[in-house]
Amino acid sequence: MPEGDTVWRTCQRLDTVFRGQVLALAELRWGRLIDSDLTGMGTIEVVPRGKHILHRLDSGLTVHSHLKMEGSWRIQDATDRVPQQDRIRAVLGTDRWTALGSRLGRLDLVRTDDEATLVGHLGPDILGEDWDRDRAVANLRAGRLGSTHDLIAASLLDQRNLAGIGTMWASEGLWVERINPWRPVSELGDAQLSALLDRIKRLMTQACAKLPGESYVHARSGHPCRRCGQTIRVALAGPADRERTLFSCPRCQDGLAPTDDGKPQAPLSSGQSRSRSGYRRRT
Ligand SMILES: [Zn+2]
Repeated sequence: MPEGDTVWRTCQRLDTVFRGQVLALAELRWGRLIDSDLTGMGTIEVVPRGKHILHRLDSGLTVHSHLKMEGSWRIQDATDRVPQQDRIRAVLGTDRWTALGSRLGRLDLVRTDDEATLVGHLGPDILGEDWDRDRAVANLRAGRLGSTHDLIAASLLDQRNLAGIGTMWASEGLWVERINPWRPVSELGDAQLSALLDRIKRLMTQACAKLPGESYVHARSGHPCRRCGQTIRVALAGPADRERTLFSCPRCQDGLAPTDDGKPQAPLSSGQSRSRSGYRRRT
């Protein structure tokens, strides 16, 4: 799943292409949005909010998209043919460039003044200019998920606590800070939570500048821990309807997940394909 840093880079590219330019082409292939006509409108800016993309137009409208699991925005030359493929859900273009929104998880058209109806529930954005670490720590403490799920990994992934972190950066940050992903937030001190968030922010900020290289722990189940050599394991975190895969080292990070029986796990790369997120695709 694309995380905050991927969304941040996507917005940078889109902003470079569209800012101050007029839309020469605009097709929203999404339900009733198909009738909307945005051509002739100018772009003010394209900005990220957590994992959400806000493309603000000078008409007072915002095109909102979310990449969810496999979405992307790809940019091609305006003279290149626009593919008539089902996966392309949005086409926006200037007279120079065309952006293709592929496999988008969500697409909306709202008044810019009403953006809060789409992103107002989000906690502080870890890559945002208004990032407020202390508020994020307080949100993690407040336990929005309910007592049984207030475990640190699941709480980091809940975008209401703080926005932008997905399974990859949750796994990476918890490993570097040697925190068990299934530890209740209540057992962690403020200093520990602050250090964890600072760490994840640093890792993600570095990743904004370039594509991330080899991960520390993410998607490395079955492989030796880069710190202690113990075999990395994968287990689920989060509420039952939104379970996500988390990777950790049972030695550096203080034991197995509660649901982990400790049986050998095949390395992710053997057999099934996976996306960058480390998910096994259901085929
Ligand atoms: Zn280890």
